[in-house]
Formats: sequence, structure tokens, C-alpha cells
Amino acid sequence: MAYSSGRHFLQIPGPTNVPDAVLRAMDMPTIDHRGPDFSNMLLGILDKLRPVFGTDKVVIFPSSGTGAWEAALVNVLAEGDRVLMSETGHFSSLWEQMAKRLGLEVNLIPGDWRRGADPDQIEARLREDKDHRIKAVAVVHNETSTGVASRIPLVRQAIDNAGHPALLLVDTISSLGSLPYEHDGWGVDVTVCCSQKGLMLPPGLGFNAVSDKALAISTQNGGMRRSYWDWGEVLKANERGFTHYTPATNLLYGLDKSLDMLLEEGLENVFSRHRRHGEATRRAVRAWELEILCDSPEEYSQVLTAILMPEGHDADALRKLILERFDMSLGAGLSKVAGKVFRIGHVGAFNDVTLIGTLGGVEMGLQLAGVPHRPGGTQTAMNYLAETAG
Ligand SMILES: *Cc1c(COP(=O)(O)O)cnc(C)c1O
Repeated sequence: MAYSSGRHFLQIPGPTNVPDAVLRAMDMPTIDHRGPDFSNMLLGILDKLRPVFGTDKVVIFPSSGTGAWEAALVNVLAEGDRVLMSETGHFSSLWEQMAKRLGLEVNLIPGDWRRGADPDQIEARLREDKDHRIKAVAVVHNETSTGVASRIPLVRQAIDNAGHPALLLVDTISSLGSLPYEHDGWGVDVTVCCSQKGLMLPPGLGFNAVSDKALAISTQNGGMRRSYWDWGEVLKANERGFTHYTPATNLLYGLDKSLDMLLEEGLENVFSRHRRHGEATRRAVRAWELEILCDSPEEYSQVLTAILMPEGHDADALRKLILERFDMSLGAGLSKVAGKVFRIGHVGAFNDVTLIGTLGGVEMGLQLAGVPHRPGGTQTAMNYLAETAG
């Protein structure tokens, strides 16, 4: 087996590669979370989160992204409330399922998993809802299962065009810190995120960014019965740099470091780095004469690319071969597209050479698996990266 040497290539779109500097920052004693060092660190983190979310009220939970989804729903929606959701892929479907389990009534706009949330349809549904029974519109910003990024400002505009008071809830789990995002600027009420994708951390932290309107609903007895997920207690303790539970201290050391790295690089530079790697990857796929799952160019995700397998070829067999021969993990097709697509993650701690290694592994895999393609995609990406190298 070739892979006892060198570094594993983790090219799934999350969990992403954790930079060595972040790993080192976490390799520290777990301190007293009621002491001054902790308080200073947390206040610093909350400061640094502001530009990343584009707002100043961010709640951190020790949780997965799924936990942060639940927190978003239970703080502002009551059982029986109606929520408008757009089927963009596997993750929007899981969020929808959760909403139903919590007793919400989901008004679903179906989708074919190749496009983002449709602002026109959202506007139409809201216009039909004359007595404002829909309390929230919930959208996944970057649909990690398909490589499609919904245009959140257009969704906001659709709500405003319909003159509808629904809240806007957005899952930014695989977009925050990689794609441009503005919680306040885009008029979002609740932003959902977690640690293991663009924030370059191990899994274990969930985030909600909260608008004044959402917070008012939550504090004035809105939402569902809840305890752990209640924003109020967290925000109160955060004022002095503390939490009312035992925090995930070592993950916070890592977060402190990863935020420093993002802000040092400059968010604009981080975004353009992802755009460039997204473009290079798509050029490689086209050169291979394979098909990109996303069929709406203005909604291409810059953080991952899902690729359709030619008829009669199994994506999971290709992924297995690439893992065994080249020690590289690629993202699987999830639920509806299982076996039909594979996903290349180009998100988080990532550079030109990592992308070329990744594409080279894919191209060798295509060749060995006998998947019909035109060779040279990796070279095409190299040409693009060389031409655009800063
Ligand atoms: C990964 C992901 C989730 C789920 O997060 P978990 O930490 O696995 O619970 C939800 N939504 C999107 C868009 C994701 O990429």
C-alpha cells in the first residue's frame, strides 16, 4: 500500500484540513474557564468574529452544525409556525426534516439539486401568504452536497419585494470564512455556522449570529421551549467573557488562531483565493469533458465542485480507488446523488499546489478506473493558476 508515507489529502468539503498553526494553538492545557485568561480570550474571539459574520451578536455553542440549526429554529419559531424552505440538496433536506420533527409546518419549494434557492419563487410564495402565516424563510447559503451557492441578497430582496415580515435564517456552515457574507448588510436574522469547514477547525463548535429582531422574539417568550439552546443566557455570560456552561476551551484556542489567520490574510484575499481555486477546478472538469453538477454558472460554489460521473460509472468506486492508491479522500454523493457524483473540496486551508495535487489525484484515478474522459484537466488548471498567480 503506497500510503504509509507523505500526507493524507483530505479533499472533502468539510471537515477541512486543520492548519498546523491551529493544531499547535490547541495543544495547550485546558485552563479555568472562570478565570481572567479565559475571559480575555473569549472577548477577543467575539471581537474577531464580527468582521467574519458581519455582525456583533454571535452565540457559540459546543455543538455540531446540526445543533446550531436547531438553536436557530427553537429560538424564534413556535410549534405550528410555518417556515418556507428551498430544496437545494441534502443539507436543506436535513434542515427541513429537523423543522418537521420540531413541529414546524414546512412550506417547501422543490428543487432539482442543480440550482440554488429561487428568489422569484420565494417572492411568489410570500405574496400568496396574505395573512403572514409564514414566520421564517430558511435557506442554505452554500449547499455542500451539490456545490451550488444560493444568492442570499436576492432572497432578502424577494422577502422585501413581497413586503413580508418573515425572518431570514441562513445556513452558512460551508460558506462562512470562504465566500463573501454579511449578516447585517444582507439583512439576515439568524446565521447558522460551525467550526469544521471554512473556519479550518476540528468539528465541535456551533454558531448563531442573531439580529435584533430575532433576539427580541427569543427574549420575549417567542420560539419553543428550550434550555441549552437559549441565546439569552449565552449572550448574558458573554458580556463579561464567560459562558454559563463549560466551554470547549481547546477548540476556542484553535478558533482564536484561525480567526487571526483569516484576518491576517484579509477576508477579501481569502474570498478571491477561493474564487480562483473554484475557477481552476471547473476548468479542469471541463477539460476532462465531465459535467459539473451545478448548472447555474452564477451560483457556482467556490468552495467545492460536485462532478457527475458518466453513465454506467460509479462515483464511489472511483473514490475508493483514489483513496486506496493515492491516499486522498474525496466527498461522496449524498442521498439522491449517491454514486452519481463525487465532490472535490477546495475550502479552508488550501493553496495552488494543494489544488494541483488534488486534481492530479483525480485525473490519475479517472485513468485507472477507466472512466471516459479527455486527459489534461490538471494541466488546464495549472495554466490558469500560473496565468493568474499574484
Ligand atoms: C456540514 C454541513 C451541515 C452539518 O453540520 P454538522 O456539523 O455535520 O452537523 C449542515 N449544513 C451544511 C451546509 C453543511 O455543509
